[in-house]
Amino acid sequence: MLPAGSVIGILGGGQLGRMLACAAAKLGFDVHVYCPETAPPAARVAARHVCAGYEDAVALRNFAKACDIVTVEFENVPAAAAEAVAASGTPFRPGAKALAVAQDRAEEKAFLESVGIAVADWRRVDTREDLLNGLQAFGGAGLLKTRREGYDGKGQAVIASRADADSAWEDLGARACVLETLVEFDLEISGLVARGLSGECVAWTPPHNMHSEGMLRRSRVPAPVDPQVLGQAQDISVQLAEAMDYVGVLALEFFVMADGQLLANEFAPRVHNSGHWTPEACATGQFENHIRAVAGWPLGRAERFHDVEMINIVGQEALRPPAGFGTDVSLTLYGKGEARAGRKMGHSVRRTGPARSRTA
Ligand code: AMP
Repeated sequence: MLPAGSVIGILGGGQLGRMLACAAAKLGFDVHVYCPETAPPAARVAARHVCAGYEDAVALRNFAKACDIVTVEFENVPAAAAEAVAASGTPFRPGAKALAVAQDRAEEKAFLESVGIAVADWRRVDTREDLLNGLQAFGGAGLLKTRREGYDGKGQAVIASRADADSAWEDLGARACVLETLVEFDLEISGLVARGLSGECVAWTPPHNMHSEGMLRRSRVPAPVDPQVLGQAQDISVQLAEAMDYVGVLALEFFVMADGQLLANEFAPRVHNSGHWTPEACATGQFENHIRAVAGWPLGRAERFHDVEMINIVGQEALRPPAGFGTDVSLTLYGKGEARAGRKMGHSVRRTGPARSRTA
C-alpha cells in the first residue's frame, strides 16, 4: 500500500485528471500532472504541473522519478511516452499493454475476440480495395473508423452504399481503418469496473448511455434492461480486466440488441464519462477506486444507493445552473475557461429515486 503523502503522477490534464486529483487529495496523496497544455483543468487542483510534450522522454523520466506511481487520464499517450515512464522504474498503472490495445481499434477488437468477448462483425481496412471488399461482405453498408485517435464520434464515417465509399475513405485521410457492420442496437450501456493490485474487482451498475453527434450527453442508471443482462455486462467487463491483468478503473461500452445479446464496442483504460455519477450515487466512486487501485489500497464497494441521471454540460450550457440545482441535483464544473461550442464543461447528477437494486 502506497502510504498517504506519496505522490501520484497523472499523464493528461483534462477533467478526468482533475476529478482523479481531487479523489487522490481526499486520500491524502499529492498529485503531479504532466501534459503539454499550459493551464489545464487538472493542474488547477494539483500540487505540481509539468508542462511538457509526450515526446519529451527526458521530461517524462524526470516527472516519473518524482512520483511514487504514475497513471493516465487518457488512452492516447504515445507508446514511447509509456515506455519512458516505465524505464524510470516508477510503477505505471494500468500499464503500457492496456494502452496499446485501446489505442488501436483493430488490436482492440482482435483482443476482445481472443478472450471470448463478442463484437460486431468487422474487417481491417488498409486500402481502398479492402474497404470495397468489406462493404461487399456487409451488404454494401458499414461504419468506417480510423484505427487510431478517434474519440467522441470523430474519425468515423457512415457508409450507406458503395457510392459513399471513396468519399468516406478520403475524408478519413486514406489511412488504416476498421470497417464495422452498422449495428441496429436497442440501446448502449457501459460496464464500469475497478480491479485492485491484488486482483479483486468491483463493478458498478451499468448505465444507459445516450449520445448526440457521437458525444455522450446523458447516462441513466440503472439502464432499462433485464437485470440479468446488466449482470452479464458486469461479468464481461470483469473478464476483460482480468484478461489484461489490469489495475485501475476501465469502462467497456456495449450495444444491447433487441434479444438482450451484448456486443462490445470499445473499452477505455481509464475512468469514464459514463461513470461520473458514481461518486454521488455509490458507496465508492470511480475516481476514488481508481486511485485506491493504482496505490495498492483495498477497493471500496460499488454498491449504489440511488437511481440517477447524469447529464453532460456542454458549451454555453455552463453559463446557467442546471435545472433543479440546489435540490436533488449536484453540479461538477471542470474549471475550463471558455465555454466553446461542443466543449465538455461539467456535468450534473440528478437523483431520480432510491435504488431498487443496489448492484445491477
Ligand atoms: P465509438 O467512437 O466507437 O464509441 O462510436 C461512437 C458512437 O457511434 C457509439 O457510441 C454508437 O452510438 C455509434 N456507433 C459506433 N459503432 C457503431 C456501429 N458499428 N453501428 C452502429 N453505431 C455505432
